[in-house]
Amino acid sequence: MRKPVIAGNWKMFKTISESVQTVLDLKPLVANASHCEIVVAPVFTSIKSVADRLEGSNIQVAGQNCATEIKQGAFTGEVSAELLKDAGATFVIIGHSERRQYYYETDSTVNRKTQAALASGLKPIVCVGEMLPQREQGIAESVVAGQLEGGLVGLTANDLESIIIAYEPVWAIGTGVTATPEQAQEMHAFIRRVLAERHSERAALETRVLYGGSVKPENISQLMALPDVDGALVGGASLDAGSFARIVNYNR
Ligand code: PEP
Repeated sequence: MRKPVIAGNWKMFKTISESVQTVLDLKPLVANASHCEIVVAPVFTSIKSVADRLEGSNIQVAGQNCATEIKQGAFTGEVSAELLKDAGATFVIIGHSERRQYYYETDSTVNRKTQAALASGLKPIVCVGEMLPQREQGIAESVVAGQLEGGLVGLTANDLESIIIAYEPVWAIGTGVTATPEQAQEMHAFIRRVLAERHSERAALETRVLYGGSVKPENISQLMALPDVDGALVGGASLDAGSFARIVNYNR
């Protein structure tokens, strides 16, 4: 049984007080939601304050990135998974397309960060997804297969139990264009086939695969009705507590 996950990626938005206010507004709106795991990913500087306010609630906290290194050390500007955990995070988003595009993260970096997160006891949300020209050239599946292979190489069956995959077609992120239900279902089923071939049938059956890309209250129910979609990674529509709560409380 794959429990759905609805995760909000706040990107580089919100001050500490705005972040705290958002979760204070969100808490009562989703207090009865036991059908899914609820996660918010504030900027690093807000994680501790947000996690403190969410203690004892049904909302968990994620980092948006972590260092490849596990141990504390001379890595100026980096934040390790262990330090994120210390601040109150239980998840971490890894390999978001904005990290790959603007900060040159490769599948190998994604793999190291995923290993670091697992070693620190954080659950990685590993993002994959093709760019528009790649879809137009008909190579979307091979791009995603390559990202999965490179990003998850060397992980054990135990590791895979803690991993969440987020399929986020880059052309759908922040554009208002959502993948059609057919496109989303097709790629999610393909991701399971890759997991079965490269890892195990069990990994394919049990790994949660989220969809991300212009998810809104208006389209979440249709996406969640797809057999291989186990939740959503939400950017813009997660910034407002009311709209994120409507996504969490999708029609079931
Ligand atoms: C994201 O940033 O992961 C994302 C999916 O953004 P949006 O929902 O705004 O498209």
